Amino acid sequence: MPNYAILPPFILRHIVRAGDAEERRRAQNTLARDRVIRSARMDLMANMQDVVVMTPPPPKGRRGRGLRRTIYVFKPHSRRRLPGQRVRTEGKPPTGDPAVDEAYDGLGIAYRFLREVFGRHSVDDHDLPLAATVHYSSKYSNAFWNGEQMVFGDGDLKLFSRFTGSLEIIGHELTHGIMQYTAQMNYTLQAGAVHESICDVMGILLKQWSLGQTVEASDWLIGAGLLMPGINGAALRSMKAPGTAYDDPLLGADPQPGHMDDFRRMQHDNGGVHINSGIPNRAFYLTAAALGGNAWERAGKVWYNTLCDKRLRPHYGFKRFARLTLRSAAELFGKQSIEASAVREAWAQVGISSLEGG
Ligand SMILES: [Zn+2]
Repeated sequence: MPNYAILPPFILRHIVRAGDAEERRRAQNTLARDRVIRSARMDLMANMQDVVVMTPPPPKGRRGRGLRRTIYVFKPHSRRRLPGQRVRTEGKPPTGDPAVDEAYDGLGIAYRFLREVFGRHSVDDHDLPLAATVHYSSKYSNAFWNGEQMVFGDGDLKLFSRFTGSLEIIGHELTHGIMQYTAQMNYTLQAGAVHESICDVMGILLKQWSLGQTVEASDWLIGAGLLMPGINGAALRSMKAPGTAYDDPLLGADPQPGHMDDFRRMQHDNGGVHINSGIPNRAFYLTAAALGGNAWERAGKVWYNTLCDKRLRPHYGFKRFARLTLRSAAELFGKQSIEASAVREAWAQVGISSLEGG
């Protein structure tokens, strides 16, 4: 199984090619670490390839316990590396370490968002305690969900700043956790791009909800503020205009397509899971834009309902996922509703049509 890192390997590989000695060394270091994390879960991945229907594991939390956060600091020299040293638990005051306090606050906002908007009790819907480790490794430019907790690097502070600073990244990574307890979508090819896209959708909704932002006011960027000053880019991805988030000599150009005509077939990035996710991302944006107002109230409900829909299978690609979003919209709001037609029209605009039937 992959490590569900926010920063795709192709950006890191571009830095290895284009960066100076120091940048190259750091990017290689991040890539190597990501590989170790991945290989630790390779057995599971091998078993997953042919599995069509999987049953989510039983929840690990106990419903009713409410929000319980624990933030750890990475200790490079201790034997058990994760989670690290416990530095802040639920209800304790700020520590003064911005990474610790941002992770603590971000997890709290995410918990309340899931609870208030979707009625979901934490990642497993049973009040799973939320744990995060900060200051992971050294100048590590990434953040990931390891199957049990969140892990954040500080960034190299040349290309990337602290990963705890981005609420949509926190939301994105937690959604990889939710995915474990719901649809368990594959992490390769189209299904993997749907999986990635759902994480971006939940991430942007978390940001919009916390800021009280309407569809029109949102920047629709994933990882806004993550790139350091001097880097030519606004974020890692744009859901509104995939392929426009960055264009920089060190990072390369944002490769995301926003339409099926530009769908990329490739070996790397698990078959382009962080690339082709631009297509379902834009379908979500277009749905939300057509409806206006707060995206979490209608478009977000449709997507969240689809994520929790037992009919969503781990291997489903764009079209079958799109069909389920349309069914969700019809079930939530009515077959003839403007929500259902917004969903249908949005998918058509990214090149996925004829969603009825099948
Ligand atoms: Zn991801």
